[in-house]
Amino acid sequence: MTRHASDRQTELVLQNGAVWTVDDSFPRAEAVAIRQSEIVAVGRDSDMEPFIGAGTEVIDLQGRLVLPGFNDAHTHFIGATLRTASGFSLYGVETLQEVQARLRDHAERHPIAEWLMGWRWDSSRFNMDGWPSRADLDVVENRRPVAIFDIDGHSCWVNTCALEALGYTADFPDPEGGQIVRDSQGQPTGILLETAHQPIPRSSALSPKAFSSLLRQEVAKINRLGITSLSNNGVQPEHFETYARMAAEGTLQVRINEWLFLSDGLSRAQRLRQRFQNDDKIRITGLKALLDGVLSAHTAWMLDPYGDAPPGTGFPIVTPEKLLERAIEADAQGFQVLIHAIGDRAVRETLGIYDKVALVNGRRDSRHRIEHVEVAHPDDQKRFAELGVVASMTPVHCTACIDAYIRDRLGEPRGNHAYAWRNLVDQGVHLCFGTDWPAVALAAPNPLEQIFAAVTRTTPQTYGEPVWHPEQRLSVAQAIRSYTLESAYAEFMEGRKGSIAPGKLADLCVLSRNILEVPPAEILETEVTMTIFDGEVVYVKE
Ligand SMILES: [Zn+2]
Repeated sequence: MTRHASDRQTELVLQNGAVWTVDDSFPRAEAVAIRQSEIVAVGRDSDMEPFIGAGTEVIDLQGRLVLPGFNDAHTHFIGATLRTASGFSLYGVETLQEVQARLRDHAERHPIAEWLMGWRWDSSRFNMDGWPSRADLDVVENRRPVAIFDIDGHSCWVNTCALEALGYTADFPDPEGGQIVRDSQGQPTGILLETAHQPIPRSSALSPKAFSSLLRQEVAKINRLGITSLSNNGVQPEHFETYARMAAEGTLQVRINEWLFLSDGLSRAQRLRQRFQNDDKIRITGLKALLDGVLSAHTAWMLDPYGDAPPGTGFPIVTPEKLLERAIEADAQGFQVLIHAIGDRAVRETLGIYDKVALVNGRRDSRHRIEHVEVAHPDDQKRFAELGVVASMTPVHCTACIDAYIRDRLGEPRGNHAYAWRNLVDQGVHLCFGTDWPAVALAAPNPLEQIFAAVTRTTPQTYGEPVWHPEQRLSVAQAIRSYTLESAYAEFMEGRKGSIAPGKLADLCVLSRNILEVPPAEILETEVTMTIFDGEVVYVKE
């Protein structure tokens, strides 16, 4: 049997492959025919004859696995791209000496930068008890402000000059939803949590030309990982216009679903939604807000106190009442709402918000989302499916941090409420996967590392050892589905992408091994050998 949309000759035919379609009605095939940006036929090799003409490029896949292109459902990709130009990375750095060395080097190479910005510092893996201090940075740089963001972007380490620039003195009160960490005299120590670091300037002044060439380079890197779509959190209007222009010109080789901020109101969002309503490269569907912080900094909002010091249950960044008000307005205008909720209290409050929104505005296919869902009480896990709420999660958030801090923060028996992928899927919840790049302890936003984490619930280093709550592991097929079709569903695009079927956009990737069949350890040795975006081969492994 072959499935096809038209009998015209096509431009590209992939043959002799192991095609995993992520389409339940037709899960496996050998060949795919593509015309312009669309898939026109999926079937056996012998079915492809009508689609092959003189001008058709035919690629022999030599039995390799073909999947829909990966769709990273939650990233800070544009922000990460800009920071590669303006900041210094502290990925993998574990000692104060190394932080100081990188700061010194960056300061020397950027003699006229006003602020010296570091990012991807990982406080949970830092070789120091408690937080470091401003004095640790002052010894290297005391003339210009320094700000070093933790890998998740929720905490920031600054020097004295930065505290002065921000006006943070002993008398300055903590901002709403944030904390200026202080010593026993009330003096700021140099650690700013949550909203306390919001006044730090973030965007770099790159020209549109420099930004577009940087973006092309970064998109090429993720094409090599098989990524053809992503959702991005927040972008400056000038950067948005640059990539929207690239998309229109055909030089942006990834589809971007851009989230605006719920707190910015609805007028710009309405304008942009209207402008891109029929666009399949740029999407405007969702408005994002944060309700709580992160487990690493004890700022995720919990039902019960943390299992380790300091005492307390974390805190909300905004009141649930305020979020409810905004969510009702956004929902009434047909927007999807996405709320970051990591602690079990934050997850419960967010589900309550979505429940009330539906009571006020009426039920519709809203697909409101909760981002992260790291800890959810079993009573609340059930409510996702009842309310039609999408769970958007990052498998590596679990595996990379189990031993670093999660076990201690949660303690048992709360451990079995964490990263409950299997419970959610079994209850019929739409579960989409993304990396949260660059807020994740990985060198790259590699989907295969996420799939490995979802399937094994462990890391490459601890693979083979006893697994923490192994009952929550997923099958490879489910992990692929969460990274493709469910990510498309989560942006209302499952009718256009996320599976390999006639009429869908021709976004595909080819892998060096069949991850549905090899032992899990081999998932990490698997490479993407080809990526097709919008009907064009954009990457081939040489
Ligand atoms: Zn994020």
